Amino acid sequence: MSLGSKSLLPRLAIGAVLSPLFAVYGAWCVACALWQFTVGTFWWLRLLRRSLPCPSCGFENDLASRWACRCGAVYHGVVTECAICGESATFFPCVNCHISIRLRGRP
Ligand SMILES: [Zn+2]
Ligand SMILES: [Zn+2]
Repeated sequence: MSLGSKSLLPRLAIGAVLSPLFAVYGAWCVACALWQFTVGTFWWLRLLRRSLPCPSCGFENDLASRWACRCGAVYHGVVTECAICGESATFFPCVNCHISIRLRGRP
């Protein structure tokens, strides 16, 4: 055997051992990306509705109503981000019972 083939054998063995681990890691990455896409699509489709039900009392809250930012700014209509402080609209209180209604999933 030549010197090159002797050094090739350990590398092939290492590759044979590690390749299933890389395949598992790749499958895990694909599964995580699919999960994030599914959750993101769920929350995005949720915001296309005209109203959202309160998780506590079930009252249908209009999505195009008032939103008060933590900085004190109050908006009427659809707002995704405060024009003053840049905070994203992540929740709003129920009109009926003031329980927070989430607009987005966890980041
Ligand atoms: Zn603000
Ligand atoms: Zn409510």
